[in-house]
Amino acid sequence: RERAAATKPWYKRLSLTTWIFIALVLGVLCGLGLQSNPDFADTYIKPIGTVFLNLIKMIVVPLVVFSIMTGIISLQDIKKVGAIGGKTVAFYMITTAFAVVIGLLFANVLHVGGGYTLPASELTYEAKESPSFIDTLVNIFPSNFFQPMADATMLQIIVIALVFGFGIIAAGKKAEPVVHFVEGMNEVCLKVIHGIICFAPFGVFGLIAPVIASNGPDVLLPLLWLILVAYLAMAAHLVVVYSGMVRALGKMSPIAFFRGIAPAFLFAFSSASSVGTLPMNMDCTRKMGASKEMTSFVLPLGATINMDGTAIYQGVCAVFIAQVFGIDLTIQQQLVIVLTTVLASIGTAGVPGSGMIMLAMVLTSVNLPVEGIALVAGVDRILDMMRTALNITGDSACCICIDSMDKRKKQKKSQKAQA
Ligand code: ASP
Repeated sequence: RERAAATKPWYKRLSLTTWIFIALVLGVLCGLGLQSNPDFADTYIKPIGTVFLNLIKMIVVPLVVFSIMTGIISLQDIKKVGAIGGKTVAFYMITTAFAVVIGLLFANVLHVGGGYTLPASELTYEAKESPSFIDTLVNIFPSNFFQPMADATMLQIIVIALVFGFGIIAAGKKAEPVVHFVEGMNEVCLKVIHGIICFAPFGVFGLIAPVIASNGPDVLLPLLWLILVAYLAMAAHLVVVYSGMVRALGKMSPIAFFRGIAPAFLFAFSSASSVGTLPMNMDCTRKMGASKEMTSFVLPLGATINMDGTAIYQGVCAVFIAQVFGIDLTIQQQLVIVLTTVLASIGTAGVPGSGMIMLAMVLTSVNLPVEGIALVAGVDRILDMMRTALNITGDSACCICIDSMDKRKKQKKSQKAQA
């Protein structure tokens, strides 16, 4: 094996994770070098990232449709899909609630808004209206089969895939050709993704350099404390909640988990899109031993409804905005924040910047000034990168846990049957 490794060309001896990391560092350095000329980065470097993102966006819709359908078909009975689905949603909601609480704790204890005085003249943010809770629920159900695919509205696509997946199970033998088609298309999507992922280092470089070039230290410095508190809270959630979960419920060493998720984590960090990272997350989580049926069902759902990083960000920002405006948040108000944030994270699309739009919903729920978003908008991308990385790590951690619990259940059943 050593000889085989030695005959590989030099660039193949490094793993994809290492290459992505190298690309990230080079992208940051290049961005810092181009701060005086961000237009150059926008014109010549950004397109590389855009091409890569376009390829990913192109594959993500068929991937979600076919992978969820395959997941349902392989679970084979409607009751089991319901049981796994219920468990998945429960896991996602509980971890998100933990995340907001951690965010609120860090923001309160570290006094996130401390020392920042309000530059009132800078408050020019026009709040985009975020949908109400009822609208969010109703909008999940599409009235047209093709529209959601064209618009890539993920929740609606998931509903379509679920409905047709159930239909295929219900149709039984007559649907066999459809089963072959769906499973075949799923394999095709996975192969295409594998090809696209090989270009990830170039994509990462193209995405990160222009961000750094146009968000230099000037924008970052005044809000450094906010960024630091948010990053610390996210790191705490990562280490405490995910390590604990994968060890206790997933029966996996946290180190192995973090090593396994690293490529997807780095990619999410640079792309700021959970949905965009989905293919890579599926690849990483599968390599860590999760079964195909679980990753195909649990992860697309997570990329759409599970946003722990976004929840922490919204908690921290709500406290930040309150403190900067000199408003004291009561415990009841903070509880309302926990509730709305969990709901807002379901409605947050897994694309760059959407967490900031949903922040408006959280702020209005406790009567905080929505204009406060203007304060954090300048550094949103920096926060978005880390919250997205956390979002996809949360999806993978839940998937590992549910998969391992399911495997143990099956094992117990077969032992009982043998006895
Ligand atoms: N960009 C995040 C994601 O894709 C969502 C957000 O803006 O919070 O997960």
